[in-house]
Amino acid sequence: MSPPASLAEREAAFRAEVRLYCERELPAKVRAKVQANLFLEKQDYVDYLHSLIPRGWVAGHWPGTWGGCDWTPMQRFIFEEESAASGAPWLIPFGISYVGPVIFTFGSQAQKDRFLPTILASTEWWAQGYSEPGAGSDLAGLKTRAVRDGNDYVVNGQKTWTTYVQWADWIFLLVRTSEEARRQQGISFLLVDMKTPGITVRPIRTMDGCHHVNEVFFDDVRVPVANLVGEEGGGWRYAKFLLGNERVIAAETGKSIRQLEHLKALVAAGTGRARDQQVFERRIAEMELKLHALRAFCLEAARQMDGSAPPGAEASIMKIRGSELQQAIAEATIEWLGAQALAYRPSDVHRASPASPDGPAATAGFMREYLYGRAATIYGGSNEIQRNIIAKAELGL
Ligand SMILES: Cc1cc2nc3c(=O)[nH]c(=O)nc-3n(C[C@H](O)[C@H](O)[C@H](O)COP(=O)(O)OP(=O)(O)OC[C@H]3O[C@@H](n4cnc5c(N)ncnc54)[C@H](O)[C@@H]3O)c2cc1C
Repeated sequence: MSPPASLAEREAAFRAEVRLYCERELPAKVRAKVQANLFLEKQDYVDYLHSLIPRGWVAGHWPGTWGGCDWTPMQRFIFEEESAASGAPWLIPFGISYVGPVIFTFGSQAQKDRFLPTILASTEWWAQGYSEPGAGSDLAGLKTRAVRDGNDYVVNGQKTWTTYVQWADWIFLLVRTSEEARRQQGISFLLVDMKTPGITVRPIRTMDGCHHVNEVFFDDVRVPVANLVGEEGGGWRYAKFLLGNERVIAAETGKSIRQLEHLKALVAAGTGRARDQQVFERRIAEMELKLHALRAFCLEAARQMDGSAPPGAEASIMKIRGSELQQAIAEATIEWLGAQALAYRPSDVHRASPASPDGPAATAGFMREYLYGRAATIYGGSNEIQRNIIAKAELGL
């Protein structure tokens, strides 16, 4: 009988399994679009999620009781890194990683029965309604109000920067249900059906010319009290629990591995300015070292997490280093491409498949990544806010 596999061997075997899934089951069309940094349509994400369902990997990190695979933090990290490096898209987190865990941790039985199965089956999509025009970093300043009227709350206010709400069936909202001296009190967490009368969605075009984010207006929107998660006024606690989960997935080392490989291939092929070759090779080496250091940090953090508590300052370090690295790689790629990158038209990234290797459309994806990637140091809590968290945790400031 062979000896039981060590932890390292089991982790390596899981990584190999994820790689095999990417080679054989990840839809080839989706992978090609991701590798070319094209804009993905909802159907691309649907196709991706459907390819994960047979393995139960849509929500592998959920507990088995709720339909997940009980992945350890390490397995989750390996899945996210390996799949992204191999060309899998962003696993849109609003249902799976954000509201799903809030519902199975704090929700009523009726909410668990109603919402968890459709998140797992990817038949209902969610959006995150936290930020408002005057409440981003200072989230406790939110002003959207929900006033109790019989068995409903009546919601009035505005959310902004709401990612992919144009595709969402439901939105989870932080709303003010009472005015308290401490602003973190009096906030509640509501689940709102996007088909409810009184909701208006207005698109915001980002620098890449694409439609990722929106403003959402609520005018006398009636939400059943049954859609309140946990206790009225307890929303800040659930919101913080969710933000902890948001930051765990922020290092995006898999994406940086893929983008750096692209840049190395471009430089090796000599498609940019030859006189800069040596300078670029040194720059790539520096970024590669930073990536190695970030990966080592993430692996160590995943090893130490037991999944019972959200990570602390480690998650903020991952968010800062991960987003800065992504931006550095994208910037170097654009500099290498030089004038070729400047002929950017958003229509070139809204294609069903990548363009042929010649012409401006072939490099449009790099420019899209560079332009949209400026947001990486803002969303999920800006990097300045992450530095404040580190200062508080480590220096006691
Ligand atoms: C592409 C994109 C997608 C997004 N998707 C969503 C979404 O789906 N749902 C959602 O709810 N939100 C979303 N957001 C909003 C995001 O969470 C906020 O933009 C972010 O929290 C920053 O808030 P703000 O934009 O109001 O900027 P502000 O809070 O006004 O900050 C402005 C600047 O001041 C700095 N700053 C603010 N406070 C401090 C401080 N105390 N110390 C030091 N510096 C400070 C910030 O770092 C920033 O540089 C998204 C944002 C972007 C750009």
